[in-house]
Amino acid sequence: MQLESALQQHFGYSTFRPGQKEIIDTILSGRDTLGVLPTGGGKSICYQLSALMLPGLTVVISPLISLMKDQVDSLTQLGIPAAYLNSTISNQEFQQVMQQLRQGSLKLLYVAPERLDNASFISFIRQHPISLLAIDEAHCVSQWGFDFRPSYRKINQFIDQLPKRPVVASFTATATDLVQKDIVKQLDLKQPEVFINSFDRPNIKFTVLEPSHRKATLYQLINHEEAMIIYASTRKQVDKLYEDLRKKGYAVSKYHAGMEQEERKQAQNDFINDQTNLVVATNAFGMGIDKTDVRKVIHYNLPKDLESYYQEAGRAGRDSLAAEAVLLYHTQDIMTNKYLIAQSSDQLAQERLETMIQYANFTGCLRNYILQYFGEETSEPCGNCSSCLGEVKIVDVTKEAQMILSCMVRMKLNFGMTMIVDVLRGSQNQRILENKFDALSTHGLMKNYSIQQIRDIISALVAHRYIGVTEYRGLYVTTQAKSLIFGEASLAIKERSYNEITSAQTQRTSPNVDHELYEVLREVRLKLAQAEGVPAYIIFSNKSLEDMASRLPKNETEFLTVEGVGSVKADKYAGQFLPVIQEFLASGKNKQKNIVLDEETSSTPFNETNSSSYLESAEYAEQGLTPYEIAIERNLTETTVLNHLTQAAEEGNLEEFTAEVVPSRKRTIKEAFQKIGIETLKPIKEYLAEEITYDEIRYVLIEYLVKDS
Ligand code: ADP
Ligand code: ZN
Repeated sequence: MQLESALQQHFGYSTFRPGQKEIIDTILSGRDTLGVLPTGGGKSICYQLSALMLPGLTVVISPLISLMKDQVDSLTQLGIPAAYLNSTISNQEFQQVMQQLRQGSLKLLYVAPERLDNASFISFIRQHPISLLAIDEAHCVSQWGFDFRPSYRKINQFIDQLPKRPVVASFTATATDLVQKDIVKQLDLKQPEVFINSFDRPNIKFTVLEPSHRKATLYQLINHEEAMIIYASTRKQVDKLYEDLRKKGYAVSKYHAGMEQEERKQAQNDFINDQTNLVVATNAFGMGIDKTDVRKVIHYNLPKDLESYYQEAGRAGRDSLAAEAVLLYHTQDIMTNKYLIAQSSDQLAQERLETMIQYANFTGCLRNYILQYFGEETSEPCGNCSSCLGEVKIVDVTKEAQMILSCMVRMKLNFGMTMIVDVLRGSQNQRILENKFDALSTHGLMKNYSIQQIRDIISALVAHRYIGVTEYRGLYVTTQAKSLIFGEASLAIKERSYNEITSAQTQRTSPNVDHELYEVLREVRLKLAQAEGVPAYIIFSNKSLEDMASRLPKNETEFLTVEGVGSVKADKYAGQFLPVIQEFLASGKNKQKNIVLDEETSSTPFNETNSSSYLESAEYAEQGLTPYEIAIERNLTETTVLNHLTQAAEEGNLEEFTAEVVPSRKRTIKEAFQKIGIETLKPIKEYLAEEITYDEIRYVLIEYLVKDS
């Protein structure tokens, strides 16, 4: 049989994705293969369809128990005999699988790698030869990969013990050359054919936003009708965002490693089964989740490197429908990260984090930046990222950058951000006068710029390594900055987005899909899924339902033309879906207006941001402005601002804050807190004696409250 018609008949897909056919051809010709396909590229079909074309049994080695079950459920739905052996099955189930194997009635057997040195399993397999050994997540064999599993090293010995060597097909989404070579070596693949597909995920739109209100922007990005993952970097932040979203009335789950296993499992299941569309998680979430209709992945903080970012972002749109990956960041993230880099001794981690900082600040095509990082050549801008679509305005700030740098050069020693901004804005405060900075020619040079604008440019200078950060948060001009000072280089930054999400809402269904029918079909699917005890997408993907709602099949033959409907599913489900479609057509509802989805779906509970004064101060503080700077920017007294921040911190409404107090004094003040408590400031001040000011105590108090809330 032609491969295409087999694909259509068994899986209901009319065309192969890039690389699939070539890989299957190679396997069928008896050659070992290594297939490197991006997440969502369709690796499973490569060995599943090969298994169907080959005589006898295919053994699939997979490290993830949840994925095994998922795949076996899917195959069973498609009428393909498959089973798995792992630690979760009962003795009775085990016997049943062995029985099927003896009868030769299975096409695919999934096993965990640990099974491979089980003596009885080996002796069994020795008597029942296998045609194909497929190794999923093959990077687990390499200690250079990020997910090394020692049990994968047993695969080789296992193969050696077989009377006849099967074809060995390995698959991974890992991009690095080192890992790819290691897979070939460790698995001892025989003259393998290596297929490396582009890592591009053209259906994912990449967006980087530097919002002035991060949380407000987050709310705007949420469309509660579509599946979405929000990644935050700490457990505490996950808890916080989860609470905030819950209070706003969203059905939301959370997931992080600090939760009980049961809770985590529940959260995961709720998400997979469409009970909640929204999950807030640390990067612990996502491994082994095969949900294909995630429409958006939002990063609330800067991830630690581009590899993790791309992997996490890649969980969007595995169904190849339009999806979006959004990175939200503050310039403060960059300062904080650079400062952390300066303190850490892990050279590799530092370089990795640098790539992420560069990405966040990159003003060219974001996709090309990623692809080039993974070693791919790119030529044209992609046309589907926030840079290409012109959604962020790029402004040239070379002149301003020169002003800042020359001011820093004149200030000679390393000062913090605040002091530099003060000099440029012409402040006459005590510290300026003490240092005689009011006599510098650059004093007041940027008095027409806001504090925020100057800080943003300084942060960009830091991101591009024209300014370095010491381990005490002091800033210095690097040698590289010469090119900028002398006009040989230029600097452009992205203009902040002030809560205007220009990016169109990700289109959820194609224009000619009837939304109402689609919802009805979803209900049918959910009932079937509940009756069969499988996740909904195993019955049909959203894409299949959309295709159904657009093709409106009238009989089983037409039903077969729907994407994802093969002969088995057609037999099984035509009877459930066709009548519903007929009824819908008969009711005449489809003649109504061509549904505009976005109007309905964009009615999120946003808009009610009550920016009480103290919360506004908190927003500024989270962006790295000191209370003093906030006071100037908002035309308030510093004490008022400090009171604002204390209130916000006490209520848990201040997420990031770093007090500008010398570390040794900070320690003394914190010790006083522990001795005396933090109810009122006066006794603390008295205890600490003269030289510590009330403001310093307040600064440290806020930090103390933020860190402990
Ligand atoms: P991965 O490479 O991440 O393992 P999967 O094998 O899980 O990807 O495939 C991702 C999704 O794409 C699945 O829902 C799968 O059924 C679907 N898919 C795979 N091949 C095709 C194809 N040729 N046409 C349409 N959909 C496909
Ligand atoms: Zn682009």
